[in-house]
Amino acid sequence: MRSIQLLSFSLVLIIAACQPANTNTVPERVPGQLKVGFDVDDTILFSRDNFLKAPHMSDDPDHLDYGWVNLHDSLYSVIIEPVADIIGFLRSKGHAVYFITARPGINGQALARHLSRELGFTVAMNQNLFFAPKRKDPKTGYKFTTKHERISQLGLHIFYGDADNDMVAASLAGVRGVRIVRDPRSVVAYSKNYFGDTRATPSEAAPYSEEQYQQFLAKGVGPYGETIYPIYTTPKEPVD
Ligand SMILES: [Mg+2]
Repeated sequence: MRSIQLLSFSLVLIIAACQPANTNTVPERVPGQLKVGFDVDDTILFSRDNFLKAPHMSDDPDHLDYGWVNLHDSLYSVIIEPVADIIGFLRSKGHAVYFITARPGINGQALARHLSRELGFTVAMNQNLFFAPKRKDPKTGYKFTTKHERISQLGLHIFYGDADNDMVAASLAGVRGVRIVRDPRSVVAYSKNYFGDTRATPSEAAPYSEEQYQQFLAKGVGPYGETIYPIYTTPKEPVD
């Protein structure tokens, strides 16, 4: 009987050892530790100028050379200090911080290096920096966020971002979304997808005016029911 038990135990060990290693492992939960995610553009980086200078790959205004963008943050993007302060605070309490961006990952190591240098801790691709480009629905042609997949996979508790898509991604993943108030200079350049589009002629797709947008900010709750992080200071202009 004992030899059968020993044989069974050995078989279990052998089978376990033969299982393929999981290459997409999620770090173990640490009791009391929050896992907090941040979007990159207009959340931790004021990168408007980087995007305005980036070459286009086609006539499509969204078809930018993201390999170029990822290489040029060190020249044209600056850290948004109040968000860096939140990150520093969270890390000082032992919480884990992740970055998830919708940029494609070409030359993503350069963005990781820039964030590491500016924030003072190691940011590494596919460890605490993830690229989650939007996907296009083949039937409707609409692009949609994929950030929620990474948010779920990492088991985040909170996700900070500036765009409607960030709030949608947080909601789809079932975590708390917190809206970072976008710098006014970015609202001028990229008002689309921000509370609908506060600079467009009012329509069903863009129902909120600048005045109503300010009312949302004053109340601290956005149109998706998200908390609004009240940043009223603006980052410095990037050095040209
Ligand atoms: Mg953003």
